[in-house]
Amino acid sequence: MTGERHRFKVGAFGCIVVNDGTFAYPHPAKNVFINFFVNAPEERLRQVLGRHNLDPDRWEQYVSPYPALVVDTGQRRVLVDTGAGGLAPTTGKLIPNLRAEGIAPEDIDTVVLTHGHPDHIGGNIDSEGRPAFPNARYVMWKDEWDFWTSEPSLEGLKVDEHGKEILIKVARNNLLPIQDQLDLIDRETEIVPGIRAVAAPGHTPGHMAIAVASGSENLLHISDTVLHPVHLEEPDWYSAVAYAPEEVVTTRRRILNRAAAEKSLVLASHFPFPGLGHVVKAGEAWRWQPIELTG
Ligand SMILES: [Zn+2]
Repeated sequence: MTGERHRFKVGAFGCIVVNDGTFAYPHPAKNVFINFFVNAPEERLRQVLGRHNLDPDRWEQYVSPYPALVVDTGQRRVLVDTGAGGLAPTTGKLIPNLRAEGIAPEDIDTVVLTHGHPDHIGGNIDSEGRPAFPNARYVMWKDEWDFWTSEPSLEGLKVDEHGKEILIKVARNNLLPIQDQLDLIDRETEIVPGIRAVAAPGHTPGHMAIAVASGSENLLHISDTVLHPVHLEEPDWYSAVAYAPEEVVTTRRRILNRAAAEKSLVLASHFPFPGLGHVVKAGEAWRWQPIELTG
């Protein structure tokens, strides 16, 4: 299901998952899941998708939400990721959705960017190319910033040249204008009290997760550590946009283990909105247990 905004609490912190819109991933060849699970053996892929009532021969699109997360700690108002901005006609709803929650862009004092992909940084700037969150410091992992603002090699990605050009162009357009408000981190540091950076490289060179803790409760925002619930069951299957596939898998196993052990509430960016649930250990792998939505 697709929603726009979802409020919840982590201890004393008020949180909102705010959707920037959705994007339908078209099928590259015969089905979109080839992109999500590029190294999956075909027979096994059929079995697993079948268990999820997905038909690899008929499934043509995967409609993903592009969520941002607002965390109001009482002292600080933090936004994690900025959506896709003008990437598609169906995206760019972050600011109106924030305003609908009574939040103006000026109210955000920290913007954390989990990584430099277009659907996570596309709303960094406004229509005039200025930082969309004028009073915020933008926080990013240093390796990630360095990668996208130098001459990034996307050779390993199973993406066509046009796709690679878009990745690089959107990153440059949305990163260079924020450099005067930038705060780069290179370790698992506390970003603001109660919110910590967690290294999660692989999907991109400096992809990070975010740990939010208040009182006895915690939330682990795992961003693109997994892209589809099937990645919990088949953690070795990686996507066409994986920058470093082996690292994707090791990072994924570490983060999923942590989420299951800590019984964290988990936010996975591209799972059905609002993308909140729990990671449950299942044999050698895991399974996804989405929260139940009421009302
Ligand atoms: Zn993404």
